[in-house]
Amino acid sequence: MAFDPRDPYDAAALYDMWLNCSRCPTSFDYEPGGDIDLDYYHRIGQQARVENWAVLPARSQGDELMFNVLCPVCADRLGVSGCDGRMELAAPVIDQICRAMRLAS
Ligand SMILES: [Zn+2]
Repeated sequence: MAFDPRDPYDAAALYDMWLNCSRCPTSFDYEPGGDIDLDYYHRIGQQARVENWAVLPARSQGDELMFNVLCPVCADRLGVSGCDGRMELAAPVIDQICRAMRLAS
C-alpha cells in the first residue's frame, strides 16, 4: 500500500505534518529520521489508525481542509471511533501537496 490521498489518516498526516490531539497536548509519537516523503506520511497515518487515533475529516469554510484529530484517550472519552472510510474525493490541497512532493523527489 502506498500513500492514499483519499485516506483521511494519510491525508491528515501529510496536511498537518504530524498528528496532534485537538483536545489535549498529546502528539502522535512518530518516528523521526528517514526520508520525508509520501511513504513516510503513509506510515504515520496508518500507524495512528492502528493505535486508535481518531481522524475525522471536517471541511469547514470553502476549500479549507480541516481534520479533527483525537488521541486514543480523548477519542475513547468522547465516544468517537476512528474514521475507517475514505473521503469521497481527495481534497484539492492534498492533491497539490502530493504533486509538489512527487516533483521534488
Ligand atoms: Zn487527547
